Amino acid sequence: MTLQSGGQLSQTGRRVARGGTLILGGGFGGAHVARCLGKKGATIVSPESSMLYTPLLPEVAAGAIEPRHVAVPLRMMCPHADLLLGRAEALDENARIVTVETDAGELHVAYERLVIALGAVVSWLPIPGLDQHAVGFKNLGDALYLRNHVLCQLDTASVDPDNAERHLSFVFVGAGYAGVEALAEVRDLVEDALRYHPNLSDVQQRWVLVDRAAKILPEAPDGLGDYAARQLVRRGVELRLSTTLASVEEHAVTLSDGARMDAETVVWTARIKPNGVLAPLGLPVDKRGRVIVDSSLRVEGRTNVWALGDCAAVPNQATPDRTDPPTCQHALRQARHLAKNLRRAPKPYRYRSMGQGATLGRDKGIANLLGIVNFKGTAGSILTRWYYLSQIPIFSRRLRVLTDGTVSFVFGRDMAELCTLERSSPTVPVTVDRFAS
Ligand SMILES: Cc1cc2nc3c(=O)[nH]c(=O)nc-3n(C[C@H](O)[C@H](O)[C@H](O)COP(=O)(O)OP(=O)(O)OC[C@H]3O[C@@H](n4cnc5c(N)ncnc54)[C@H](O)[C@@H]3O)c2cc1C
Repeated sequence: MTLQSGGQLSQTGRRVARGGTLILGGGFGGAHVARCLGKKGATIVSPESSMLYTPLLPEVAAGAIEPRHVAVPLRMMCPHADLLLGRAEALDENARIVTVETDAGELHVAYERLVIALGAVVSWLPIPGLDQHAVGFKNLGDALYLRNHVLCQLDTASVDPDNAERHLSFVFVGAGYAGVEALAEVRDLVEDALRYHPNLSDVQQRWVLVDRAAKILPEAPDGLGDYAARQLVRRGVELRLSTTLASVEEHAVTLSDGARMDAETVVWTARIKPNGVLAPLGLPVDKRGRVIVDSSLRVEGRTNVWALGDCAAVPNQATPDRTDPPTCQHALRQARHLAKNLRRAPKPYRYRSMGQGATLGRDKGIANLLGIVNFKGTAGSILTRWYYLSQIPIFSRRLRVLTDGTVSFVFGRDMAELCTLERSSPTVPVTVDRFAS
């Protein structure tokens, strides 16, 4: 089979990647490679038709931003790319063909250049009860589920006064950026929602943040991490540090220090691991399961296979002692560099981080610029939110998010809870999946 441009069907069940470049994964890394390739074209294989803008997931969980607005449609973002909705399942490097499972059956896609951008997944450690009773926080479904679940707890507490404290107890495990931001935002949602539950005003809430490390936000500069910890404590959050989760039951959790607490909500953000589909692809991986790439982002020992983002161990000339951390900021820079390397003699990747930031609820936050200047409080919040907003790829998306954020800042978070919806049916009403927004 010869490659044709435009991704035409060359024979039944067979395709060729547009422009010869096939990208597996339409997340942050993959979508930006396709966008940067512009008119050169590419074919993206992704189970979803949108790129999820994860930095705003905590705001979605808190009802401050509409879920659809953080999903950037790939067809809008990468107008010169073909999108194949499906999952990459197997790779034949000799034939240069990837097998993709779609709703319409199996497709075989031929490529000249292959880009692996399959991201990471939640790592459910073998802690008793964890996978049954805890919620992950990695995708839009998780954020919607969490929001509906939390709002449901307030309604249930109203009709179950004997267990009201348990319904208002929330345990977050993992004090990295995702866990801290999610806790702070969801706490604001509960605060806003409780105004409409006057019967719960005397119920003791419990917010617990658990981490095996001795401090929260270990990647943040010391002053900022300590400030974030003080802010959370001031807002009534119990920090259980140097502690791990021992077990989760339907209505309670037990920690490694023996403490047992009743809670209906356990959010697990403690660990991610590279996507499991990498193993059958047969590419070289490091001991953490990430694809090994050289300084130009080319997979070790390969000439036409490249990898980036959370699924790859990417060396960075600006930080020779460690590979890049799993962040959007790095995935974006890697994508820009990789797109250039696909069109020229490859050059080594080098990127110095612009800084980092986190929101700590409605009007507080932390930000660090270029590793030099620290901002906290309102300034930290504004800088971080401005940065998140500026990185959303499509202008109209940015405007939608800005409008959502402004409306919820002025009027409070949207507390419409949709987990009890039912769709009309001529026979029995069917409860809509709790993920429904
Ligand atoms: C809640 C949360 C908050 C975050 N906040 C921040 C933040 O504030 N700042 C920051 O810098 N980083 C943040 N991150 C990290 C950031 O999201 C990741 O580092 C970034 O998304 C990595 O990009 P990626 O392309 O490697 O992976 P992803 O963006 O995860 O993309 C992987 C893609 O591969 C697709 N895929 C999976 N299996 C297959 C298959 N078999 N075939 C084809 N496609 C497949 C997935 O559907 C997905 O679209 C956050 C992450 C989370 C979970």
